[in-house]
Amino acid sequence: MGCVTGKSIRIGRIAGIPIGISPWWLVIVALFTWSLGDYYYPEVIANIAPATAYGLGFVSVLLLFASIVLHELGHAIVARRHGIEIEEIDLWLLGGVSKMSGDAHEPSDELRYALAGPAVTALIAAAFGGMALALPASTPATVKALVEYQALANGLILVFNLLPAFPLDGGRVLRSLLWKRGGDMRRATDTAAGVGRVFGYVLVGLGVLELLSGSPGGLWLGAIGFFIVVAAGAQAVGAEVQEVFSGLAAGELMSTPVVSIPASISVEEAVREFFVGYRYNAFPATGLDGRLLGLLEIGRVRALTAAQRSGRTVGELLDRDPGLRIGADQDVALLLERPAFARVGRAAVVDDRGVPVGLLSITDVQRALQAARIAGTGPGAGTGPGAGTGPGAKHPTAVAG
Ligand SMILES: [Zn+2]
Repeated sequence: MGCVTGKSIRIGRIAGIPIGISPWWLVIVALFTWSLGDYYYPEVIANIAPATAYGLGFVSVLLLFASIVLHELGHAIVARRHGIEIEEIDLWLLGGVSKMSGDAHEPSDELRYALAGPAVTALIAAAFGGMALALPASTPATVKALVEYQALANGLILVFNLLPAFPLDGGRVLRSLLWKRGGDMRRATDTAAGVGRVFGYVLVGLGVLELLSGSPGGLWLGAIGFFIVVAAGAQAVGAEVQEVFSGLAAGELMSTPVVSIPASISVEEAVREFFVGYRYNAFPATGLDGRLLGLLEIGRVRALTAAQRSGRTVGELLDRDPGLRIGADQDVALLLERPAFARVGRAAVVDDRGVPVGLLSITDVQRALQAARIAGTGPGAGTGPGAGTGPGAKHPTAVAG
């Protein structure tokens, strides 16, 4: 959902996992603060001052934000135990999303980490619920209302995320159960995604009905429903891509021969001799030993004025993201899950000494996918169990509060 979430801003790390917020999240913080301060708190606390109500609304949203991070961390920590790295947790328009590199290899693993997030949310809801009951009668009404809201909101998040609407957690549980029973991950994904789409459309319908009856909350349901419809479709395509490319090595798909730029030459020389000379959009750049240092894309050169180019070497302009370097024997399906590859659209393929032997671009991958579609079978099809699922698999948590 990179296209939906847009660029996120890193705000820190927990347990080594970067936490990011999408600019949309700020919109949600404002919207929730407003709706809690304007409607909810004045309703549950008689004669509350507007400033207090908005203050409570803001604190509530921040606490909810912390609950969602904990929910995502629940997924992340269990996934990590099964060898799946979480690259980032993003908070965006509708809740949280864990960006995972790789996916479950066994249905029982997926079942465990799909349930880990809701288990955390259940604990949080129970803790706030218990606290609300245990508060002495002398507790200020504001504190009581704040605690009760967290119990309620986390309870709603729990119920909502357990709907069997793939790719929400409940949908992942459904998929893992279908996968376990039938032994076919792809078919289980298709079925779960189909159920997810139906749920999505039902939510959109309910949202429209609610809007027509004059409730702005309908917009929210509609947005979540729409998100589920889009995400379920993306996951189904992801499963197909995974099936086609799993077990296929980067070396089999890359474009060769490759032309490398020495990192020590000037940018002007690179433009003249390489970009104009070969008319490629990107080149791997190498050190004196011939090993890859990074990628030089045309966009980076174009962003500079003639004056800025002068005096600079290729080495200063390189994209040195290690995610752009792949071994020739690397699985293409795994490459597709790398955020760096999605960002740049290509990666350099190197031999075991680190010397570039080819370039692999998204275009190469798309061509191979189209070829596999008309052939009715993937070049790497039939790898059987052990195949993962969609590239850039995501665990979204939708806020329903
Ligand atoms: Zn979740």
